[in-house]
Amino acid sequence: MKAFDHTNAKTLAEAKTALAGGKATIIAGGTDLMGRLKDNILPTYPASVINVKTIPGLDYIKEEAGVLKIGATTRLADIAASPVINQKYTALAQAAGRVATPHVRDMGTIGGNLAQLHRCWYFRKPENRFNCIRKGGTTCFAMTGDNRYHSIFGAVNKCIAVNISDTAPALIALNASIVTNTRKINAENFWDVKIPENTVLAPGEIITEIQVPTPPAGAKSAFLKFAIRKSIDFPIVNCAVLVGGGAPRIALNAVAPKPYRAAKAEAAIAGKPINEANAEAAGAAAMEDAKPLPATKYKVQIAKTLVKRALLAAV
Ligand SMILES: Cc1cc2nc3c(=O)[nH]c(=O)nc-3n(C[C@H](O)[C@H](O)[C@H](O)COP(=O)(O)OP(=O)(O)OC[C@H]3O[C@@H](n4cnc5c(N)ncnc54)[C@H](O)[C@@H]3O)c2cc1C
Ligand code: SF4
Repeated sequence: MKAFDHTNAKTLAEAKTALAGGKATIIAGGTDLMGRLKDNILPTYPASVINVKTIPGLDYIKEEAGVLKIGATTRLADIAASPVINQKYTALAQAAGRVATPHVRDMGTIGGNLAQLHRCWYFRKPENRFNCIRKGGTTCFAMTGDNRYHSIFGAVNKCIAVNISDTAPALIALNASIVTNTRKINAENFWDVKIPENTVLAPGEIITEIQVPTPPAGAKSAFLKFAIRKSIDFPIVNCAVLVGGGAPRIALNAVAPKPYRAAKAEAAIAGKPINEANAEAAGAAAMEDAKPLPATKYKVQIAKTLVKRALLAAV
């Protein structure tokens, strides 16, 4: 691992100044970033890391005027355990509780979970052995190589790596917004496919808060995840739904380079009772536009089933 400086920021302004010029990067829990630094997966690295966990007042869970507000450095373990989130924003508590392991959830923050990089094994290979498109190269090694965990909805910017955040689909289903030090972004518009980042954040832009509107009266949400093992593994597919009290919202992740809003599934279940047959039809509708690779066909059936089961779990 290359040497780098470390600054414990005490204010957002201090962090912003330290990040100016593009030679520094943000660290929160470090559970994603430290692995990347240790393994030298990228061709170049910033000279310093700016710790935002040391900024007072960025770690909180509160409700104000019908909006749940979560500070960016709030730990996933606290979100999973929060009584108010479990009761009213259930999908988010369930999603946070399914990330990795207790140790990672104790260190990892919601901000870091949203901004984490993808896990394509060519991209993550130590010592930058595959200088792929997401590192500024010209080749997608997964396209012709082992792509069994990759996209079933094609490429974005020539990359077929999937976004694997567990909390992302829950926030999209719950119609959340991501607040930064410069703007407020609807969760649905927060992710992108850049070199190498996964978000629309500008260099040096800092997530400060997650805002989730209180679901309408009678609404319920649920999150389900399919992974090889119940603990530690990233999702093969995950799914979050919000139903009742308004138009249904259904989002999936690990199926495409960006979190995927399943609009056709929402249309298929809208206005209908949620029962076995209707939930199954919604699952099939969610996958109408899927274009899996030969090695990812199995994910289509998993996604259909997760949509169905998440809908049934929410009633
Ligand atoms: C073994 C293991 C298993 C894992 N399993 C899962 C899983 O099942 N599901 C899942 O979703 N994730 C998983 N993760 C990924 C990830 O580590 C966690 O999700 C965690 O939430 C990341 O948060 P962090 O605070 O540690 O982020 P960090 O590592 O500190 O940062 C991650 C990225 O986010 C940026 N960042 C952090 N905070 C901010 C902010 N406030 N504003 C702007 N940018 C910011 C950093 O610059 C960095 O690029 C796993 C990680 C490990 C090591
Ligand atoms: S899928 Fe994306 S991250 Fe993986 S090798 Fe291809 S371009 Fe790189």
